[in-house]
Parts: sequence; C-alpha cells; structure tokens
Amino acid sequence: MKVRVRFAPSPTGPLHIGGVRTALYNYLFAKKYHGSFILRIDDTDSARFVSEAEKYIIETFKWLKITFDEGPHCNGNYGPYRQSERKAIYREYIDKLLSKNLAYIAFDTYEDLEHKRHNIPNFQYDASTRMNMINSLTLSKKETKKRISNNDQYVIRIKVTPGQTIVINDLIRNKININSSTLDDKVIYKSSNNLPTYHLASVIDDHLMKITHVIRGEEWLPSTPLHIIIYQYLGWEQTIPIFAHLPLLLNPNGKGKLNKRDSKQSEFPIFPLQWIDHKTKEHISGYREIGYLPEALINFLALLGWTPNNNQEIFSINELSTLFSLDKCSRNGIKFDYQKAKWFNHQYIQQKSDEDIAKLFLHHYANKLENQNFDRIAKIVRMVKNRVNFIKDFWIESDFFFIAPIRYEKHSVQKHWKIESSIQLTELCTLLTSISNFSSKILEKAIKTWIANKNYHTSKIMNACRLSLVGAAKGPNIFYIIEMLGKEETITRIKKAIKVLM
Ligand code: GLU
Repeated sequence: MKVRVRFAPSPTGPLHIGGVRTALYNYLFAKKYHGSFILRIDDTDSARFVSEAEKYIIETFKWLKITFDEGPHCNGNYGPYRQSERKAIYREYIDKLLSKNLAYIAFDTYEDLEHKRHNIPNFQYDASTRMNMINSLTLSKKETKKRISNNDQYVIRIKVTPGQTIVINDLIRNKININSSTLDDKVIYKSSNNLPTYHLASVIDDHLMKITHVIRGEEWLPSTPLHIIIYQYLGWEQTIPIFAHLPLLLNPNGKGKLNKRDSKQSEFPIFPLQWIDHKTKEHISGYREIGYLPEALINFLALLGWTPNNNQEIFSINELSTLFSLDKCSRNGIKFDYQKAKWFNHQYIQQKSDEDIAKLFLHHYANKLENQNFDRIAKIVRMVKNRVNFIKDFWIESDFFFIAPIRYEKHSVQKHWKIESSIQLTELCTLLTSISNFSSKILEKAIKTWIANKNYHTSKIMNACRLSLVGAAKGPNIFYIIEMLGKEETITRIKKAIKVLM
C-alpha cells in the first residue's frame, strides 16, 4: 500500500505555526515511506473564507522548501483539490445517506436552537431530542418537500445511533473507545452554501483521494468518532485511514493553547510569513520576515512533539525524514519554547558559510549595503556571526564597519572616555600612521608594545579606541576592527572622536 497523506488547511486566515508543524509531520511521514504528500484546501466554510489564505499557505511551503506531490497548485490525479470545486462529487454521497435514512434534513432555525439550548440543560441535537425538532423525521414527506421547494434554509444532520462503541485506532494515542451516545447529530451539509461541512467533505475526500494516514492536530480528535461513523455509513469501513493526532502546542508557560494573544504579549511570531489584515490594516510579522532560516524553523518545529532516540538536536530535513516516526510523538501538549527557536536559528547561522550568510545579509539590507564589496561583507559576517540570532542582527552588530559613528553612546562615553584618552589616542594615531602592514596580528603586537613601553593601561586605551571607532562599547576584537576599517578610516575616526569628546 502506497502511503498517501494530506495537509488540509481551512483558508480562514493566516496559517498558524501549529499548522506548519502538522504539515511538516505529514511531509516527513510521506518522505519516510516514499509516499505522496497532498495539499487539499478545505474551503467549505464560506462564512470564514479568506481569499488570500490559500496563496499564503502555498508561499509558506515554498519558502520552507516543503513540496507537495499533489494539490491545487500542482495538480494530481485525484483533484480538484479545493473542496469548493467538488460540490458535484459530494452530492452523490449526501443523497446516499439521506436515502438510507442515515441522515436527515433539519429546518430548525438559529432561534429555535437557541431557545432549546436555553431551556434544556445540556441540550444536544441527538437521538434523545431529534424527534422533538423540526426535521424530515418529524415532518411529513410532503411538508419536507414543500419547505425545500420554498427555498427554506435547511441543514442535513447525520443520524447517530446511540449506545454503540466507536473505536479509534490512533498511532500516537493507541486505541480509544467512544460511546456514540455522547455524540450529537452533527450538521454535515448546509443549504445556505450548497456545500457539505468539513466533517462530511473531509471523509469523502480522504476516501476518494485514497488517504492512508490522517495526521492532524489533537483538536480534531473529538470529531474522529463522527468521521468513523460516516465511513461506516458510506460502506467504507475497509478504507478507514489510520489516525495520528498530534499533541497541542501550548503557550510558553504551558497554560492553554498557543494563541495570537500570547504571541503578541510575549512578542514571538505565530505565523510563518507576514500577514496583512485587510480589515484592521495590521501588519503581523512572520518567522520569515523576522529572519528565520527555513531549515532552522523546520528543525525547531520537528522537535515540538517528536523526540528522537538520542540527544541530537540538529537535523537536516533528510535526516528528519529518515528518523521521524509517529510512535515517538508525544501525547501531551508541548510548551512552545520560543527561546529554543532562536537558539536553532543561531545554530543554523553558524553552520552556513560566510558567503551564504553574506548573500542573505546583502538581500536583507540591500539599500544600506548597495555599494559594498562582497568579500568584505563576508569577512565582516565571519567576525560577528557568533553574536547573532537573526540575519537582521548583522546590521546591529556591524553597522560601524559601513558607516562612521555619528554620535557616541552616552553611557559608554561616561565609562570609557578618560581625561587622558585624548592624549593617548593622539599618540596612537601617530603610531598607526607609522605602520604599513595593517593586519590585525601586526597591529596587536605594535600597539601592545607601545602600551607596555609607556606603561599605559591596555583596556583603558582599547575601550576609548573602540568608542571612537564604533561609537559604543560593542563589536568584535578591536584589532580586527582596525584592520577591517583600514589606516585612513581608523585614524579619521579616532581624530573625530578626540575633537568631539575632548
Ligand atoms: N480543515 C481542517 C483544518 O482546518 C483539517 C482537519 C483535518 O486534518 O482533518 O485544520
């Protein structure tokens, strides 16, 4: 049997980072078993449909270099891959459920249902209440037909038989038994948009698309018994896929589901890419814009719910797809450790070549670095690499290599600019003028010898020198900075600082 898995997001807004993890696990699973990974757009909820969402989903996986074998953007033999384009396909199965009396038409209005909910404690539309409601079971055939031809709005509900044991075989949670009496007669079709709801559409599609494993978030576990009933009602028991419900992603403090509010408060992104909310005009940054490398985000997400056998933490996507297994996934919710995401990005930046990082740096700061020499940028990258978590940090850590300080950080001036600094740095300029080979090693030797001869204090001089070159108490080894800036620029900067700070 060829493994076929699907990622089936609903385009109701930007894809949540938890959705990216679900897609990644499906992808790894498919790769491991040389199967197919399918993108299906579950767009039956017309009321919540957001038109830019599908493009956003596709762009996200393009950025992550996670490719689909089938989907609305790359075709395949089981399309269409948007549920809204499959109306005609669903019709046959809806009629089958109705004709076999396994589903029924219900006309209860929103107000009718609210009234019941208000007056009957724990009201549920099920075997215990359905005969008191307005539906094709309680109305005559004629009346039902009349209402439909009058264009009365209606829904179709699944008719759940109470007292049955529904067995879910879940690769992560093992066997789960559910008593069907706890389930309600869920709506499986709405006349308002002439579409089945998610439950029915996803079962039909999973069956027709020959999905072998349904790997999805734990929030769908309560819906699974209903899905199994639909498989049974449609005579598809033999092809019920194997389920795997992934653990929830929790807030960093472990209390509750990871949500947008927490992400805002704690200032970590919850979406893979930037999202512009067309209603509020709010720009919400994503992992990509913040400067995550796709490999780092993938590695971070892979370990949010799956634990490999050893203590290894850094995995390439190929290693992940070889090692990944659903039985090593956790059942318990996973705290979203954002610091760890930063750590991964830091690690991946260290792993990349200076040239590759220089390209990204150049891309990120195209305006600022426009006329800069590429090899020089790569050298600067090497000097500051170990201090950065994100590509954007490169500018913060190395701006002084490209532009002379305009002002000097107040706090550093108070701390490092001494009365004797002007005289000493003037002497340093004379010394630097006399050195022809401006390599850091030679500079270090000459400067240290001069300091020793004069009985000066090394750190005092070097701190003041750093302040003149950088404008603050930051940056890599001072001799590297001097070498990189070159004789003329170094002396000009020191002289300017003396003038301004004296
Ligand atoms: N369309 C569902 C969602 O929005 C998919 C759930 C499933 O994978 O069955 O997540």
